[in-house]
Amino acid sequence: MPATFERGVEPEREDFVGEAEPDDAAAHREHVGVVVRARPSRRIQIVAERGANPRHLVGRDLLTLTASAQDNAAIGAAVGDGARDGDTDGRIVDRLVAVRAVIVHGVPQPRQRPLQVFLQCEARVIGADGDPHSARLYYTLHAPIFGGVVDAPMLCSARIADATMIPSVVISARGEERLHGGHPWIYRGDVAEARASGGDVVVVRGPRGRVLGRALYSDRSQIAIRVIAYGDRRGVDDDTDRAWLRDRIQSAIAFRSSLGIDATAYRLVHGEADLLPSLVVDRYGDYLVVQALSQGMDRLLPVIVSVLRELVEPKGILARNDPRARVLEGLEQRVEVLAGEVPERLAVTEGGIEYDVDLRRGQKTGLFLDQRENRAAAAAYARGRVLDCFSYNGGFALHLGRRARETIAIDVSEDAIARVRENAARNGVAVDARVGNVFDELRGLERLGERFDTIVLDPPAFAKNKAAVSNARAGYKEINLRALKLLDAGGTLVTCSCSYHVNEALFAEIVYEAAVDAQAHVTVVEKRMQARDHPVLLGVPETYYLKCFILRKL
Ligand code: SAH
Repeated sequence: MPATFERGVEPEREDFVGEAEPDDAAAHREHVGVVVRARPSRRIQIVAERGANPRHLVGRDLLTLTASAQDNAAIGAAVGDGARDGDTDGRIVDRLVAVRAVIVHGVPQPRQRPLQVFLQCEARVIGADGDPHSARLYYTLHAPIFGGVVDAPMLCSARIADATMIPSVVISARGEERLHGGHPWIYRGDVAEARASGGDVVVVRGPRGRVLGRALYSDRSQIAIRVIAYGDRRGVDDDTDRAWLRDRIQSAIAFRSSLGIDATAYRLVHGEADLLPSLVVDRYGDYLVVQALSQGMDRLLPVIVSVLRELVEPKGILARNDPRARVLEGLEQRVEVLAGEVPERLAVTEGGIEYDVDLRRGQKTGLFLDQRENRAAAAAYARGRVLDCFSYNGGFALHLGRRARETIAIDVSEDAIARVRENAARNGVAVDARVGNVFDELRGLERLGERFDTIVLDPPAFAKNKAAVSNARAGYKEINLRALKLLDAGGTLVTCSCSYHVNEALFAEIVYEAAVDAQAHVTVVEKRMQARDHPVLLGVPETYYLKCFILRKL
């Protein structure tokens, strides 16, 4: 048996890199060592022979070598083996393997400057005879190595304690460009090669083999990759997953705390905009609602729940994993309690208004939290007769109604209108809540010659995809035209669109066309967007979805 495999079991090539090259000389396999080098906060590369199984690395000794925390060149025999940076040559990159090694012997180097470094090692399998071999014979394995802090650069020898394969994906040049632009989504068409299963955290490599970052991999959705970390950083094991998730979630929560939000319900984690793609966490008082909208986030849910419990100590965590996006990921749609207990109904406050919320059955995660600041802003303009179209549970109606002579709320959902009535009674605000289709109701009000001083239009997304934009355009124009006609001179129109596919410029154009048809001169008083706890990530237009214009009819 070749020396390489002495400590391992019989090689099982098929579960590693497939067939070895026919010219993969046995001699090359017989004299293989691994060079280890200590360097602070660097990933470790191991070049192992083709056909090797990660398991066969276990128990192997790593060769002794001078390890300097600063000196990158101290790689000894590995220098010039054609894979010096390991990840730069796509031809030799095949599989990534996480290796944990234990130091068996360390001798400090007295004349060098003492350094407190995490001993992370760069390791390469090289021919012990110094033969650099042909690059073709080698694969780059990846090794976030080993704990243990050393006080000084040291000469060390170590032994590999365990080794596991790390899933990896190679993306195209176009995908790489997108990734550099800061967009976390790589579409399936830009995935050149995937050695991963759905839900894996993968290492992403560019077309030339360079490590670009780490990502969540989906084997179903058109969005094959959602990048979670950029550059060549950190290892991949459960602890590390918890570490980066905790980091990101903590920073997302800290940001919300800094906003001085006047509400007990708000968003703690807003997916891509918190560098936690496809994860939503909303807070409703003592309870949290989470949504994991990709295979990767779904698999990480237990870790996410554990982090949230640690950081927020909620009384309960509910998964509202029923959005359609999950179907595209091949995930089941389900609503379930993940921690503690979650009541059927609970009360939250927002700017002095108290709402009753049904976290299990309410729209989105219970409330339209993204409109919180727009409801407050709109209230400042409210007067006279107020009409809240697409009212849902009455968010705008209640805030504006406190300053109005009369308030009408319209929604097509009987359930929503029942909720408006309950919330109106609870807050002592008089609201005439009507079940109806806004398109018909606006025409009806016009026929009756009714007039309003303040109108809110907050429809659902009319354009859920690109193909729907032209119909959506007609819909937005129609309601804005009718509303502008119903508005008295000097009145305020608060008009919203939450269709990402209708961008701000297009929405402004639609509203302008409506104004022309209504023969109204209209000024833009405020251009607003989703609330600050739902921030927009530059370079990711999908995160800017909600537009809210406050207009004055002259
Ligand atoms: N303004 C609300 C959110 C509105 S969400 C808030 O601030 O909380 C959109 C609402 O429009 C949903 O409640 C939905 O039931 C309702 N809706 C959808 N189509 C409608 C239609 N044609 N007529 C009336 N309501 C409609």
